[in-house]
Amino acid sequence: MKKNFPSPELPFAYRDQPLSGNIINGLGETNKRAATQIFHGSGARELEWSKLELFFGLINPFKVSWLNLVNRWMLRDADGRIAKSKRKITSHADITAEIKDLALSFGAGSVGTSPMIKEALYKGGEINYANAIVILYPMDSDEMQHVTTARAGTETMRAYMEISRTAIELSKKIRAMGWRARAYCEGADLLHIPLAINAGLGQLGKHGSLICREFGSSMRIATILTDLPLDHDKPIDIAVDDLCIGCRRCTIDCPVDAISDEKHMVRGDDKWYVDFDKCVPYFTEAVGCGICIEVCPWSKPDRGFSLSEKLLKKREKNKLKELK
Ligand code: SF4
Ligand code: SF4
Repeated sequence: MKKNFPSPELPFAYRDQPLSGNIINGLGETNKRAATQIFHGSGARELEWSKLELFFGLINPFKVSWLNLVNRWMLRDADGRIAKSKRKITSHADITAEIKDLALSFGAGSVGTSPMIKEALYKGGEINYANAIVILYPMDSDEMQHVTTARAGTETMRAYMEISRTAIELSKKIRAMGWRARAYCEGADLLHIPLAINAGLGQLGKHGSLICREFGSSMRIATILTDLPLDHDKPIDIAVDDLCIGCRRCTIDCPVDAISDEKHMVRGDDKWYVDFDKCVPYFTEAVGCGICIEVCPWSKPDRGFSLSEKLLKKREKNKLKELK
């Protein structure tokens, strides 16, 4: 796996040292509170670091920056007109199955549903929909072996564009049924991971990303929020912690030692944590980095289901041993 990346000598410095990303993110805080959004927004509101993010976005390799701009342009169709006549929903189970089939036929690799939850909102965020449809789209594992080069960055942006297209198409279909629906993709004012976990798509890994059985962490996530009445999936246990506790692959391979081997208290939850002050600067310079998600054993193609099954069996076996 290549680890070279262009590291330009940047022509600026901070006048004052900015606040630590870990403080902004609530590391060590025992009370529950919403996350603070400082970048990766939709552009709907001014974020503290959005200009700096734009600067780093523009100095990315040309193709990556161009695809990023095209993706942003596509997202102008994330919301739109709603048909005047509303389709009557007689069975939540039937409409949920229909929506999932549509998502898969439009190109999603996996799909789940969740009620809208407050954990998906940033501080000050106001999103008023009842339900979430969360979709995953895999990245090409051969291309992603080239993290942190422009080749992997291009594949990441291609996956973003594909998942944006799928989410936009699905939201259009729902609006054509007369129900509100909006697609949230890259640069959304919404936290996708809590919704994906609640929609039964996977669990949080030590590297701070979602792990699913279908694609490990080598995928992108998008969400369609809607008022269409839906049945909800339930969170699943695929034994992510069972492996993360003993595995140190991402911890060792992270070039800036940003990944912690212990869980930490973050805004009232004990969870895996990535040091923002170490990860974000490297991530920003290294065309999106992504080393941790690509070295993760779950990301090996066609590995996830058998790995989960093996780990769950081992857990049961250990429990039985303890009882004897
Ligand atoms: S590389 Fe290992 S420790 Fe890191 S997230 Fe994957 S399974 Fe967990
Ligand atoms: S994205 Fe890169 S820098 Fe950030 S935690 Fe993963 S490996 Fe480390």
